[in-house]
Amino acid sequence: MAILVYVETENGSPKKSSLEAATYGAAVGKHLGKKVVAVVAENNAANLATLGNYGITEVLQVKTDQALASDVVAAIIAEAAQKISAEVVVLSKTTVIDAVAPILGIKLEAAVASNVIALPDFANGFVVRKGVFTGKGFADVKLESNVKVLTIKKNAVVVQTTGGSASVAELSMTVPASAVAVTEVQKQTGDILLPEADLVVSAGRGMKGAENWGMVEELAKTLGAATACSKPVSDMDWRPHHEHVGQTGIKVSPNLYIALGISGAIQHLAGVNSSKVIVVVNKDPEAPFFKSADYGIVGDVFEVIPKLTAAIKSAM
Ligand SMILES: Cc1cc2nc3c(=O)[nH]c(=O)nc-3n(C[C@H](O)[C@H](O)[C@H](O)COP(=O)(O)OP(=O)(O)OC[C@H]3O[C@@H](n4cnc5c(N)ncnc54)[C@H](O)[C@@H]3O)c2cc1C
Repeated sequence: MAILVYVETENGSPKKSSLEAATYGAAVGKHLGKKVVAVVAENNAANLATLGNYGITEVLQVKTDQALASDVVAAIIAEAAQKISAEVVVLSKTTVIDAVAPILGIKLEAAVASNVIALPDFANGFVVRKGVFTGKGFADVKLESNVKVLTIKKNAVVVQTTGGSASVAELSMTVPASAVAVTEVQKQTGDILLPEADLVVSAGRGMKGAENWGMVEELAKTLGAATACSKPVSDMDWRPHHEHVGQTGIKVSPNLYIALGISGAIQHLAGVNSSKVIVVVNKDPEAPFFKSADYGIVGDVFEVIPKLTAAIKSAM
């Protein structure tokens, strides 16, 4: 019996969200007195032993060139879970994993809890807290099946290092062909990937045009933040589509979300509501976004943004 963590990689190295999942898995393993194993679909094994620094004892590496569509990922995780008789499978919640988790639930006859935000309460069985209603509330759910699948909300867990190095072994399996045809893969540009970001600087139609985004980018660069935007902004091609957040875009849950000239429509809020701290800058004191803000500045973005950037620079 063991805990299994699915680790995603970027250029051969584990993603931060997967390190959060590893930290979570390590804490569960410690409590249950079980070893923690990671499964990785990655041809390059160079950096996988570093997972030992996050509480993983063993890495099962599946070598495959297949596009990692949800059904392929589910098959890989299920194979690893069955091999080590996993009783808890931990994944970081992403768009792909949202589709993987229910497939795993069926394959492993497991109860699935998604968007988990805290370690299980073991005193009352296996009770996990999950975010619901786009982060506005939470639910405590008791998982009673032998195998449990948990998807962990990004930034809900602080990555902890334990020291050590993991052993890496190949898990050879026949990776099935996907029933999903991946026709195109678009890589996000920029230094900081939006879905992974701790800090996000986002702007809307209040910026008036693409030519004014220099100041947004400078603020983001000063903070070390990713940039994002509202839907109309990407629809008008002021910004690339992979920056659009909201109901129909990317869902983010950073520690800090700065919204510049965004009204705060319900469809936008659906993608950002679970941010820890929200700062809103809008010239209209009645803008709906202020109701969801932790801090608000009523002012003109063209005056406030340069002042904010200068203040942050001088505080550094
Ligand atoms: C089915 C559906 C799905 C949708 N999905 C999404 C989604 O995923 N994401 C999303 O973002 N939207 C989505 N929308 C659109 C959404 O309803 C809003 O229209 C959109 O979010 C508004 O974008 P905005 O706030 O940038 O623009 P606006 O609504 O035009 O707001 C601009 C804001 O900037 C402020 N402003 C203007 N000038 C300045 C200035 N100089 N200084 C400071 N503030 C200023 C204004 O006061 C205003 O509040 C969806 C809509 C539908 C119907």
